Amino acid sequence: MEFRDFSLLVKDTKVSEFAEGLERGVILATKCEKCGSIYYPPRHDCPKCFSDEMSWIELHGSGKLLSFTVIFVPPEHFAPDLSETAPFSGYRYAPKPVGIVEMGNGARVMGWIPGIPREELQIGMSLTPKAEVLPNGRATIVLAPEGE
Ligand SMILES: [Zn+2]
Repeated sequence: MEFRDFSLLVKDTKVSEFAEGLERGVILATKCEKCGSIYYPPRHDCPKCFSDEMSWIELHGSGKLLSFTVIFVPPEHFAPDLSETAPFSGYRYAPKPVGIVEMGNGARVMGWIPGIPREELQIGMSLTPKAEVLPNGRATIVLAPEGE
């Protein structure tokens, strides 16, 4: 999988391993070997100490929901099952919650939340970021309830 299959139309990048991780179902961050800072999305160079001695780490387990919103006309990779169109337009209308969880190591991961109705989402609840490859071959990140 190429990096552009995640979200950006970028083919060549120093952090292409990120997209390869998603393909394997793993969410990767980078850790600076010099100062210990953790970066998600991954960075190839540390903006704090300017070192390029970075290693890849996997993000595991759940995090706490910091914030969320609802996107009413989501991009295709957020809602591959789009079925309704908005009135008087060709826009696909499919409200999808999207949120940010903070992991135990401080990494903040954004993903869409297809498994929980918006009314049941609460700041601070535990959600688990998971990498998913959609039927069209693009990768995305889902925030799943614990136990799923
Ligand atoms: Zn550093």
